[in-house]
Amino acid sequence: IVSGDLTDNEHEDDREGSLRPRMFNQYIGQKAIKDELQVYIKAACQRQEALDHVLLYGPPGLGKTTLAIIIANEMDVAIKTTSGPAIERPGDLVALLNELEAGDVLFIDEIHRLPKIVEEVLYSAMEDFYVDIVIGQGPTAHPVHFTLPPFTLIGATTRAGLLSAPLRDRFGIVAHMNYYTENELTKIVERSADIFKTTISLSGAHEIARRSRGTPRIANRLLKRVRDFAEVAHQDKVDTSIVQYALNLLRVDDHGLDETDRKMLEMMINLYDGGPVGVSTIAANIGEEIETVTEMIEPYLMQSGFIKRTPRGRIVTQAAYEHLRLPYSKKQ
Ligand code: ADP
Repeated sequence: IVSGDLTDNEHEDDREGSLRPRMFNQYIGQKAIKDELQVYIKAACQRQEALDHVLLYGPPGLGKTTLAIIIANEMDVAIKTTSGPAIERPGDLVALLNELEAGDVLFIDEIHRLPKIVEEVLYSAMEDFYVDIVIGQGPTAHPVHFTLPPFTLIGATTRAGLLSAPLRDRFGIVAHMNYYTENELTKIVERSADIFKTTISLSGAHEIARRSRGTPRIANRLLKRVRDFAEVAHQDKVDTSIVQYALNLLRVDDHGLDETDRKMLEMMINLYDGGPVGVSTIAANIGEEIETVTEMIEPYLMQSGFIKRTPRGRIVTQAAYEHLRLPYSKKQ
């Protein structure tokens, strides 16, 4: 349950919309991306043009949606939000585009999951601000040409490599989001605690940050859980000991690995002597979708140096054996 809670997004965030930074000055970290975007936004505003299309890629929970909203706020335009799988037919896309005013932002989350026929309609919309679609079926079918106001498409995806080349090439600005440092996450936890009116010690905030897999969404979620423990225990200040107590109960270890992560590593060690193991075999053995493994579980394990990707599959590293306190025998 814990891992689902921690990696599944949306619902909880909807209720906690207040935590979402609205402007760049509240958005912590990702300095290079922020600096770059601020220049482009300023230039576009000075020319009174729409901002070029932006592609944001990186693991879930790193602040892509938040950044899209900030871009619209900083440009002082409206934003419409949707996701790749929600746009089933070209007509759905045209309906969305039709509602935009000049300069507005259309945000498409999981843009790699757009159906091919919709993606093809998007090309001319992005490049020349028009769409040609066929309306009706059979003998009554007829082509219709729509001209669109200039708009900014912001697409988000977990990996840029999931996008087709023609779509990727139509984004003028491409930003790769990185995992956050412990210091940045500590600031995010402190900011969120402030919004919740929860008092937290610096070392308590840092302890949550350390166990948040470099991900703001997880940091906020852990903070909420820890706050519950503190309230029930009548502690008016969240300190390191209550953080450790709560996170140990939640089975989030001191590297931020949860049960699913450990299950994957242990399975690879116990059944495959540490690998190499193919990703579909891993997914089948731990009862997860392949995409969950490649997009949510594996990137952080790789970033932490617990698994390595090789042409023949994934390998568990010595560091992971040590972390799990399992004996490691050097492979040939
Ligand atoms: P993504 O779209 O990449 O999955 P979100 O934009 O939904 O991620 O971010 C998840 C949550 O994390 C947001 O609700 C927000 O509160 C928090 N968050 C993300 N990035 C930052 C940041 N740079 N500074 C502060 N909070 C952030």
